[in-house]
Amino acid sequence: MSTVAAIVAPSVDAPLEPGTVTRREVGPKDVLIEIVWAGICHSDIHTVRGDWGPQRYPLTVGHEIAGVVIEVGGEVTRHAVGDRVGVGCIVYSCRECENCLAGEEQYCLRGMTGTYGAVDRDGTVTQGGYSTHIVVDEDYVLRLPETIPFEKAAPLLCAGITTYSPLRHWNAGPGTRVAIIGLGGLGHMAVKIAHALGAEVTVLSRTLDKRDDGLALGADHYYATGDRATFTELAGSFDLILNTISAKLDMNAYLRLLSRNGALVTVGASAEPIRISEFTLQAGRRSLAASGIGGIAETQEMLDFCAEHGVAPEVEIVTADQVNEAWDRVLASDVRFRFVIDASTFAAAG
Ligand code: NAP
Ligand code: ZN
Ligand code: ZN
Repeated sequence: MSTVAAIVAPSVDAPLEPGTVTRREVGPKDVLIEIVWAGICHSDIHTVRGDWGPQRYPLTVGHEIAGVVIEVGGEVTRHAVGDRVGVGCIVYSCRECENCLAGEEQYCLRGMTGTYGAVDRDGTVTQGGYSTHIVVDEDYVLRLPETIPFEKAAPLLCAGITTYSPLRHWNAGPGTRVAIIGLGGLGHMAVKIAHALGAEVTVLSRTLDKRDDGLALGADHYYATGDRATFTELAGSFDLILNTISAKLDMNAYLRLLSRNGALVTVGASAEPIRISEFTLQAGRRSLAASGIGGIAETQEMLDFCAEHGVAPEVEIVTADQVNEAWDRVLASDVRFRFVIDASTFAAAG
């Protein structure tokens, strides 16, 4: 076991502070990764602030990890010392259930092991990527294509796969009209990926403030949902709507924007119950669905797709001592469009 520098949440409501986490010995199938970049996902904030239920503190979050392999166990075959690799939201799963066997470990029927806040095989609580090093079973470690700028690779491990997976599952592509609700970390990746897939893309944001950015990211159309006329003008006009917002929304109003057979897929996770009208769904055989991150194989497919199509997030680099401020800015939707922490600053912050 070794102790490494980290940024730690001491409790549900205290600011994050410098600290340490313990990493296990490198087992035969493990790789030891020196973390270079760590993305900030809104889920990190939901988790620490108790939005999704109680946590065990102190807790280190972060599940958008890009780094370099510095040690491998004796049975490791997929990765070698010096490789650029990524770790997302999953660090283990049962490997035996129907969903694991289908390569969809995120839906492991026995519960996948999340990168932070989950009970690991040895009974300890997993600790995430706001730290200098992590030890992960090689099967849950992704290859990072060289052509993706290193600091931009980290957000792909959550924001990228969480939007790529439903866009692929619901067949976004040429001839489909796709709307993205919310232009934050996930939303801006959804716009880029849907555009690269060939779909006609519309952004539905609260205001027109980010309109120029949205169009530059690849959106064809941009509407403010703060303007009620938007809902009249766009009624019945989308085959697929992806909800990426971090707060509760008036689902019925958005369901009415779906075409016949259209689907509204929610990846946003406010955890507040939603009310929907069966009549709104019945008026056009509409579906309401949800999607969670993506499996390991599909995450690799997404990374390769992004490399091939030149898709990468827009990032703002911060240092370890700026993480509390960055969280405040995420909560204020003041980020264009993903914060990435320079992991070399974790040690200095302690
Ligand atoms: P983010 O960067 O903070 O973006 C969220 C966006 O939601 C904002 O940019 C804003 O868009 C909109 N928004 C924020 N507050 C709002 C409010 N009060 N009312 C209406 N809209 C509001 O967050 P993120 O990292 O992209 O994550 C988005 C959500 O997805 C979070 O709930 C996160 O936990 C969840 N998530 C889910 C999965 C999954 O597997 N399903 C994976 C990762 C994240 P505009 O300013 O454009 O309106
Ligand atoms: Zn995330
Ligand atoms: Zn399983």
